[in-house]
Amino acid sequence: MGALIGLPSYKLTMEYMERFDLLEKGPLLDRGFFHPQGSRISQIPLEQMPDFAREFKRLPSLMRRYESVREPGFRQVPPELCKPFSTWCDENELTVLRQVFMHYFCAFGFGNIDDVPTVYVMKLLNYDNLMSFIEITHMISWPSGVTELPRRMADRVSDLRLTCEVQRIYQENTGGVRVETNQGPLYFDKVIYTAPLQGFAQKVELIRDEEELFKSIIDEKFRVYAYRVENMPKLSGYIPDNMGIASRGNMMAWYYRWADLAQTDLITVYVAENDHMSDAEIRENIESTLASLGGENIRLYMMKRWNHFPHVDTAALESGFYERLENLQGKNGIYFAGEIMNFPTLENCIRYAKALVNRYF
Ligand SMILES: Cc1cc2nc3c(=O)[nH]c(=O)nc-3n(C[C@H](O)[C@H](O)[C@H](O)COP(=O)(O)OP(=O)(O)OC[C@H]3O[C@@H](n4cnc5c(N)ncnc54)[C@H](O)[C@@H]3O)c2cc1C
Repeated sequence: MGALIGLPSYKLTMEYMERFDLLEKGPLLDRGFFHPQGSRISQIPLEQMPDFAREFKRLPSLMRRYESVREPGFRQVPPELCKPFSTWCDENELTVLRQVFMHYFCAFGFGNIDDVPTVYVMKLLNYDNLMSFIEITHMISWPSGVTELPRRMADRVSDLRLTCEVQRIYQENTGGVRVETNQGPLYFDKVIYTAPLQGFAQKVELIRDEEELFKSIIDEKFRVYAYRVENMPKLSGYIPDNMGIASRGNMMAWYYRWADLAQTDLITVYVAENDHMSDAEIRENIESTLASLGGENIRLYMMKRWNHFPHVDTAALESGFYERLENLQGKNGIYFAGEIMNFPTLENCIRYAKALVNRYF
């Protein structure tokens, strides 16, 4: 219900997959674009193809300016990348390509391109990653689920405590760190905190400025529905008309991930939550779209809500959110890693964690 695919650019992820003997890649995921009423459409309307070609030709040199975005973290974000992505597209005259970026950004629950700062879009869709989506390269789609990798890693950890909830963290007078948990206190020299940072302020003593910093973190309410449904187009389908802010509560995409299992009728459906819609209304929307797409015998299998994509807005980025956060690294013996530090993909999380350990440990 969560992470599903890796891209060919996930070099560190692949290194770990090799180290932990996890080499199966899963089936090639075919892809299509659809109108909400069910008809298949082309990703770019035909009349926009000449503009698309022109913009596409300019893209490599434009993106080369922002190579630093590939570095782990968000230190030194160029000012123009703090602005919302649609503003950056306007400034760079990318009227057609902005739609292509939007298809692969919004469908995965990362919010609206009129609000989201450009640097986040570039963290996901650097030139190589965008090409992987456009060219349908062989993505990694772990047959036993992405958790197979951490599970294999966990097998080699000698003191792993599952179901152990961290409640409070204190720095001792001796300089060490005491972690209060529901299984009693634990003592460490240093701690790396990788749980969502929105909850951090409740676990440690912070000064007011720091509390404000953590309060500026926002996220996207994102839902994944698993449906059993017959007769659906057997591919990953995107519905661009459902990706705008006015269409929240409608399905933006579906994945037919288990293409290798000949007869399966299981799909996952991706929806940005709409505060003004009830569960029943969202389901009604999804199920009527599935029916328009040809789906029959539609049965809900399960649903999961995610507080997805922890991030900050343009104002917080411009006022140095990440510099201030990075300056807190090591304070009270606590370090931060995890998705907010480098954007929510597995590869980005691994890259940041490795850089953190190399720098401070
Ligand atoms: C629907 C969805 C689809 C996605 N698809 C992809 C994809 O296809 N490819 C991709 O690369 N990425 C994908 N991602 C992103 C990726 O899954 C995340 O970025 C990544 O898992 C984040 O790792 P993390 O370690 O920062 O956080 P998490 O994986 O969220 O881990 C945080 C952990 O902290 C634990 N925790 C929280 N509070 C406490 C506490 N008080 N005490 C103890 N433990 C605590 C939680 O239980 C959790 O296990 C997707 C995410 C979602 C939600």
